[in-house]
Amino acid sequence: YRGKHVPTGVVVYEPAATRPASDALVMQRELRRALESDELVLHYQPKIELSTGRVTSVEALVRWQHPERGLLPPAAFLPVAERSELIEPLTRWVLRRALHDYAAWTAAGHDWTVAVNVSARNLSSLQFVDSVRDILRQAEVLPHRLHLEITETALAFDSDVAGQVVDALAREGISMSVDDFGIGFTGLSQLRTLDVTEIKIDRTFVADLMGNEHDRAIVRSVIELAHRLGCVVTAEGVETQDVADWLVASACDHAQGYLWLRPAPWTQIEDGAGAPAGSDVPLVGAAERTT
Ligand code: C2E
Ligand code: MG
Ligand code: MG
Ligand code: MG
Repeated sequence: YRGKHVPTGVVVYEPAATRPASDALVMQRELRRALESDELVLHYQPKIELSTGRVTSVEALVRWQHPERGLLPPAAFLPVAERSELIEPLTRWVLRRALHDYAAWTAAGHDWTVAVNVSARNLSSLQFVDSVRDILRQAEVLPHRLHLEITETALAFDSDVAGQVVDALAREGISMSVDDFGIGFTGLSQLRTLDVTEIKIDRTFVADLMGNEHDRAIVRSVIELAHRLGCVVTAEGVETQDVADWLVASACDHAQGYLWLRPAPWTQIEDGAGAPAGSDVPLVGAAERTT
C-alpha cells in the first residue's frame, strides 16, 4: 500500500510506531488543502428501477483528483478523514456539491433524487442534523429529494446517538438508507427501531449470485424482510444480465452496478438515462470505462 517496491531479502527500516502516524498527518494536511482548493470530485452511479429500467436516483461517490497521484478512490483517503475531524467538512463539501449538481441535472430535465454516503463519525452528534438542514435550505432542495446512506457498521458505532441522529434526519423528511446490508454488526433489532426507508444489499452477496445457492437464499430473504418492513430494496454490484434478470424475478426494487454504469460525472449518466417511460428494456452500456 505504501507503494515501495522492496526486492526480496532486503529489509527496509521503518520505525513502526512513528511512520504510519506521520503518513496520516501528511495525508490529513494534504486533504485539508484539497478541500480548500476544490481537489475533490464527485462521480455518480445511477440506481436503476428494475421494473422499468429507468434511472430514479444517483449516488454520489467521492474521489480525490490528487495533483501528483491522480484520481484516488475513497479507500485511499476516507479512512484518514474518518479518523480525524476532517470527515465533518468533507461530508459537508460532498453534500453541498451533490445538491449543486442536483440543481444542474434537474434544470436539464432529469427527475433523479440524490444519495450521499455518511460516515459513522458524522452520526456522533446531533449537530449533523443542523448542518444537513442548513445545506438543504441554502441549496433550496426539498429534504425528500435527498437520501443519506449509512452503513450497518456506522449504526453500531455509537448506536444510541447514531440512532437519534438517524431518526432526527428522518423527521426532517430525508430518506434514510442502510448501506452494505448483511456484512455489518447490527442485525435485525436496529432495523426494527430505525426509521429507514431503503435497504441496500451488499455487493458481496450479489456479485456471484448465480453460482451460489446460499447467496440467492440470503438475497431472497433480505428482499422479503425489507418489503415486510415497508422498505424498498436495492441490490449493489450487479455486473451481469443474468443477475439482473434473477433480481427482477425476485421482486427486487432497484439495482446498481457496472452492468449499467460505473461511477462517472453526472453528465455521462445522461447518455443511458433517456430510456422511454415504461420501457422494460434495461439500460446497458454507455459505461465509463476505467481501465
Ligand atoms: P458504497 O456506498 O457501498 O458504494 C458502492 C461502491 O461499490 C463504490 O465504490 C462503487 O464504485 C462500487 N461498485 C458499484 N457497482 C459495482 C459493481 O458492479 N462491481 C464492483 N466491483 N463494484 C461496484 P467506491 O466509489 O470506491 O466507494 C467505496 C465506498 O466509499 C462506498 O461504498 C462508501 O461507503 C464510501 N464512500 C464513497 N463516497 C463517499 C462519501 O462521499 N462520503 C462517505 N462518507 N463515504 C463515501
Ligand atoms: Mg453507498
Ligand atoms: Mg454499499
Ligand atoms: Mg460498499
